[in-house]
Amino acid sequence: MNPWQWYCPTRIFFARGAVRDNSREMALGQKALIVTGQGGSAKRNGALGDVCSALAEHGVAFCIYDRVESNPAVSDMREGAGLARKEQVDFIVGVGGGSPLDAAKAIAVLAVNDINDEDLFAGRFAKALPVAAVPTTARTGSEATPYSILTYPDINSKKSIYSPLIFPAAAFLDSAYTRSLPDQTTIDTALDAFAHAFESYLTIRTNPLSDALARKVLFITGRYLHKMGQECWSLDENDRDQLLYASLLAGMAISQTGTSIPHALGYSYTYFKGVPHGRANGYVLPPFARFLARHKQPRLWQALESGGFDSLDKFALLIEALSGPAPVLDKYEQDKFIDICSRAKNLNNTIVRPTLTDLRQILLEIR
Ligand code: NAP
Ligand code: FE
Repeated sequence: MNPWQWYCPTRIFFARGAVRDNSREMALGQKALIVTGQGGSAKRNGALGDVCSALAEHGVAFCIYDRVESNPAVSDMREGAGLARKEQVDFIVGVGGGSPLDAAKAIAVLAVNDINDEDLFAGRFAKALPVAAVPTTARTGSEATPYSILTYPDINSKKSIYSPLIFPAAAFLDSAYTRSLPDQTTIDTALDAFAHAFESYLTIRTNPLSDALARKVLFITGRYLHKMGQECWSLDENDRDQLLYASLLAGMAISQTGTSIPHALGYSYTYFKGVPHGRANGYVLPPFARFLARHKQPRLWQALESGGFDSLDKFALLIEALSGPAPVLDKYEQDKFIDICSRAKNLNNTIVRPTLTDLRQILLEIR
C-alpha cells in the first residue's frame, strides 16, 4: 500500500437539532458575521433563526451579510469582507447551500488579508478567521472541505481557493433544513454528491480511506438516483439524513483527492449557460465514464458497481434522464469550453489524463 495521510480538522455535529443542542460550539469568538444567501431560504427553512438563537444564547454579538448569490463571484467576497472589517467580527458563520458556505470561507480570508485575487486563489495567505458552517443542501460537503469555489470572470470560469486554513472549525448538519428543497434541486444536489464520489474514486490521488468514503457515497447516492429516476418519488426524514451524510462523506473524499473532468467541463455549462452545478456535472458523467471504459480502467467498473449499475448503458440512461438535455453548443462554444477545461487544475487528477482530442470527444458525446 502506498503511504497516505489525512487531515480534517472540522468538528462535525450531525443531528436533528444540531445547532440548538451544540450552540456553545458555534460560539467561536466575540462577534460573528453570518453569511447567507440572497434568496432568504435560510430564513424560511429555520437555519438562520436557529443560528441567531444559538449565538444570542452565549452572548455572542452578530451581524448578517445576506447577499450571496449562487456560484458567488470573487468580487462580491470583498463586499462581505468589508462588512466583516467594519463590524470587527472575529469569526464567520456560513448558513445555506454551497454558495454561502464557500462565500463564508473566502470572506474569512479576505477579512484579515489585504491580497489580490491571484494571491487569494493561489492560497498565499497565512491566516483566516474561524468559520462555522451550517449546510442547508445535501450536495457540496463544503462544511468539511478546504475549498472555496468562486466564479472568476478573469478566466471565464470558476476557480477554487484551496487552503487547510479554510476548513470550517465546526459544522452543524441537520437534514431538517433540506426538507424545503424543490425536487429538481434535490436531484441536482444528489448528482453533485454522486459526481464527487465518482470522480474522487477515479483520480490518481486516491487512498484507502478516500476509496472507502467514495464507495459508501456511491452506494447511498446511487440508490437515491435510481429512486429519483422513477415517476413518483418522495423522501422521508431518514432519506434526507442519508443524502446529507453522503454529501458530507463525498466532501471529505474530494478534500483529499480533488475532482476531475466532469467538474472541469461542467463549470463552463454553469458559467456560460446558467446550468445548476450538479446538473452540469450530470451532463459530463456518462461520456467521462465511456472515456475511461475506452481506456479499460478497472476502477470504473468498481465505481459503477458501487452505485448499483450493472452496465455503462444503464448508468448513462439514468444520469441523462435525471440531468435532462444539455444546451446545444455551436462550434465556437465547443472550442471555448474545451480550451477552458484543458487549463483547469483538476484535470491533472484524472486517472487517465485526457488529450484535447479526448476532451472534444467527451464534449461531443454529451446529450
Ligand atoms: P447554492 O448555490 O448554495 O443554492 C442554490 C439555490 O438553492 C439558491 O437559490 C438557494 O437559496 C437555494 N437553497 C439553499 N438551501 C435551500 C433549502 N434548504 N430550501 C430551499 N432552497 C434552498 O447551491 P449548492 O448547490 O448547495 O452549492 C453550489 C455551490 O457550491 C457552487 O458554487 C459549487 O461550485 C460549490 N461547491 C463547493 C464545494 C466545496 O468543496 N467548497 C464542492 C462542490 C461544490 P438562497 O439564495 O436563499 O441561498
Ligand atoms: Fe461539485
